[in-house]
Amino acid sequence: MNSNVKQYSDVLRTAGLKATKSRLVVLQALADLGGHCSADDVHKFLTERGECVPRGTVFKVVGDLSSRGVLMVTDAGPGRTLYEYAEQWHHHFVCRKCHRILDVPCFEGKKPCLLPDVRLPATIEEAQIIFRGICHSCEAEGSATS
Ligand SMILES: [Zn+2]
Ligand SMILES: [Zn+2]
Repeated sequence: MNSNVKQYSDVLRTAGLKATKSRLVVLQALADLGGHCSADDVHKFLTERGECVPRGTVFKVVGDLSSRGVLMVTDAGPGRTLYEYAEQWHHHFVCRKCHRILDVPCFEGKKPCLLPDVRLPATIEEAQIIFRGICHSCEAEGSATS
């Protein structure tokens, strides 16, 4: 825990959540991990640091925080649910080879940044785009071996 505690407490309160120890610890862990982490990654990181937060609690906290918009659920295709603490709404690039995830800034910076041309019988809350392709390091590897 460090000086970010106050910042995270404010973020939680603004979202209408109490700044509990487990929520603060999970937010700090996600910030330290640099984003795009599963609940299990967060749990493992905390355990290695000697912070005893039960796995079930970590899952509950990331669920609560993402439903309140404090955490962003990273849409990177099928697989584990990934979370990140991001101040700005953004999109993602996923490398087809190494599955590396890169942040892609959103020109609107808020959701929904994209609306369909047709009227849907639904209220659209967000549009998160997955860009796919080959990252530069995989491209470099590919051209070195072929
Ligand atoms: Zn790659
Ligand atoms: Zn991201």
